[in-house]
Amino acid sequence: MSYTKIIVHIFLTICISSLAQTSLYLNHELQNQALARHGSQDADQEYQELAEEAFNDVGIPGEERTTIKQLSPLSIDYTYAAACTCAGQIFVNQPYLQQCSTASRRMTMFHEVFHKLQTDANGKINCINPTYQHPEKEADLKGALAGNCYKCTRALAAARPSKKSTTTKALRELANGYATREELLVIAAQQKASGALCKYHKK
Ligand SMILES: [Zn+2]
Ligand SMILES: [Zn+2]
Repeated sequence: MSYTKIIVHIFLTICISSLAQTSLYLNHELQNQALARHGSQDADQEYQELAEEAFNDVGIPGEERTTIKQLSPLSIDYTYAAACTCAGQIFVNQPYLQQCSTASRRMTMFHEVFHKLQTDANGKINCINPTYQHPEKEADLKGALAGNCYKCTRALAAARPSKKSTTTKALRELANGYATREELLVIAAQQKASGALCKYHKK
């Protein structure tokens, strides 16, 4: 390595590490705001275990992993959301999710953990791969792929609108960019062919 190259290398290293520190600081502030807005109470152990599995399979490094929180009834998202990710913090609507199947809880967690991966230093959620066009679609499809269980993917497919559906709810979900039932069933069929099942469905 020439002298100039070493200088450039050191300079770049300093720039990158100070950038990382800035985003870490921003994230800390934004995370505190998110906790104040959506709730700071830890979710039940089941959700921490589902998150641990999703963090591993989606690829969230240890230092970025957070404790899953309960979505507070005071949160503006409480009345309609099963879960949400804000500034990299994940909140679950426990009373709602307790009525759902394990497959739904598991797929919800993979979706939210994927949103965590999509969160930038300013707390904004963007597509990692722009060809997905909408972060919700990418979180649904990449979450289902990472979940690697055809029964879980089928459960998510059943909850998502058909591309042909014209109900108000379906049109709203499609406008918000969620994956269609048809897109998810393609993944489910591939997973079925390879016999992919999660530990809950292997039992
Ligand atoms: Zn989402
Ligand atoms: Zn499963």
